[in-house]
Amino acid sequence: MADDMTAPLLTEDYSDDQTLSRPTVAVLGSGDFSRSLAVRLVSSGVRVVVGSRCVNRIPPGLFPDAVALRNQEGAAAQAACVVFLALFPEHYGSLLGLRSVLAGKVLVDVSNAEMLNIYGPSNAERLAELFPESLVVKGFNTVSTWELQTGAHDGSKQVLICSNSTDGKRKVLQLARQMGFHPLDMGGLPAAREIEVTSLRLFPSWSGPVVLTFLLFLFFYTYGFLRGILLPSILQGSRDLFYRLALELVNESLPAVALVILALVYLAGLFAAFVQLWRGTKYQRFPSWLDNWLQRRKQLGLLSFLCAALHGVYSVCQPLRRVTQHRLTNAAYRQVKAGTEEPWDELAVWRSELYLSCGVLGLGVLSLLAITSVPSVGNTLNWREFTFVQSGLGYVALTLSIMHTLFFGWDFAFHIEAYPFYMPPIFLLAAVLPCIVLLSRCFLLLPCISSRLSRIRRGWESKRNCPVFQHHHLQVNGVP
Ligand code: NAP
Repeated sequence: MADDMTAPLLTEDYSDDQTLSRPTVAVLGSGDFSRSLAVRLVSSGVRVVVGSRCVNRIPPGLFPDAVALRNQEGAAAQAACVVFLALFPEHYGSLLGLRSVLAGKVLVDVSNAEMLNIYGPSNAERLAELFPESLVVKGFNTVSTWELQTGAHDGSKQVLICSNSTDGKRKVLQLARQMGFHPLDMGGLPAAREIEVTSLRLFPSWSGPVVLTFLLFLFFYTYGFLRGILLPSILQGSRDLFYRLALELVNESLPAVALVILALVYLAGLFAAFVQLWRGTKYQRFPSWLDNWLQRRKQLGLLSFLCAALHGVYSVCQPLRRVTQHRLTNAAYRQVKAGTEEPWDELAVWRSELYLSCGVLGLGVLSLLAITSVPSVGNTLNWREFTFVQSGLGYVALTLSIMHTLFFGWDFAFHIEAYPFYMPPIFLLAAVLPCIVLLSRCFLLLPCISSRLSRIRRGWESKRNCPVFQHHHLQVNGVP
């Protein structure tokens, strides 16, 4: 990391502006963000001056030697154009005395909002009101001190930038590029409200899938508890069943959740295909619920993988359980006592071999899907490879998981004992949706359907939707 920070990030200067080729950039404030920013700027070949209220208080060696330390006014005056405000927004007022020095300069507001759901102007908009003669640009607040220090190779590279001043924004965009970031122009200063809360959001794209996974787990767990523990205890007087809550029931619910979630990943795509077939065009937006669902497929897939992996680990632990050991030794003891031997059941042997093999293979393919959904891996694949893995292998994983479930159920699903209190076993409930998804996918593969779908996806539209045809139709009917 030390090497990263000493070597310039870019040997070439990308700026087309002479002022920016060796600009002096000022950073007001000498805290954590200021230090990391100064280090990154210096390593990008930029001259830096840091402005502090009290230079003497800065311990020697805190900033690189190349960084000049001045009082706030001296630093602001020395800045060629860009001045970063690395202080909290409540202290912006203390800079009002520097208005004239900062006039005409680009002020970069790096602050974050204090909390979500704050109404009124953003920090950047308030800064623009305080310094009307400066060009206020919002940016760099989504980058942490760690990301600034880890160099150009690690950490997030995206920097969101907005401003009402095109010139100010252009300069900050150039500087961000020179520092090795990927700046994203978010438009005018009102966008600062959204940018300022970005860092406060807690996994925004994960909340829906996580809640759904949790609810599904709760459903299967409660169902299994009623069917296998509570009702037998109350109605049949079965005792000593509650130990199943800790491991057995969790291990029954996890694969059910994994299977249903995996089916939901592919159900979204099927819905989209059916909507396009029904509309006869791909140029109409999907309803927002379907759009959201489609965008959450990656998260759903990863959660399905997590549940399946946990199921695998729980299953491997099964023989270690005291209950399993107790049952095995007791069964062996009874057989020895009765002088009998467990007969070789060819069908049961095949069943357990196939059931385990499909489960292991399904988990293996799922892990491949999970790995390719990591951006650094996914980015190395072209579109065809990515869809082959995510769609082709995804359906293979779904099929193997269904087979794992069905081999587990085997003929047991058709026995009356499998339905105590008229409640079907968990695995049977969990297999319904995946089977529907798989059958629907087969339906879409029918040549007459798949050829229409691929024509729609290449831009063909039915007469009902084609704007050219409609225009012609209106002209023929004499409508101007
Ligand atoms: P910090 O370590 O507390 O530094 C703030 C600096 O503000 C102080 O060192 C102080 O430097 C200066 N300052 C100027 N006027 C001040 C006043 N009247 N009262 C108190 N301090 C004053 O904070 P920070 O972590 O660097 O954060 C600074 C800004 O960067 C914040 O707006 C924060 O939201 C933003 N930010 C931080 C991070 C991060 O990872 N830390 C990430 C993104 C954005 P002098 O004493 O030298 O004047």
